[in-house]
Amino acid sequence: MKVRVDGDACVASGMCAYLAPAVFDQREDDGVVVVLREVPDEGQYEAVQDAVRNCPARVISVEDADDPTEG
Ligand code: SF4
Repeated sequence: MKVRVDGDACVASGMCAYLAPAVFDQREDDGVVVVLREVPDEGQYEAVQDAVRNCPARVISVEDADDPTEG
């Protein structure tokens, strides 16, 4: 899994950082999403999917990656 976000469209709700704190954080100055782990551990997949579903701006997406260490 590879995580992508469109930071320009992020509304800084913080849902992603709340649901998957190992993968997402927020910039201190404006709260815009920061991806901590573009290629998360498998144990984080469910939390990431939760974040995808609950992001109010719908700016988080995931790609399947054959090689989880890729990228
Ligand atoms: S949940 Fe979506 S809108 Fe909220 S901070 Fe994360 S990426 Fe931005």
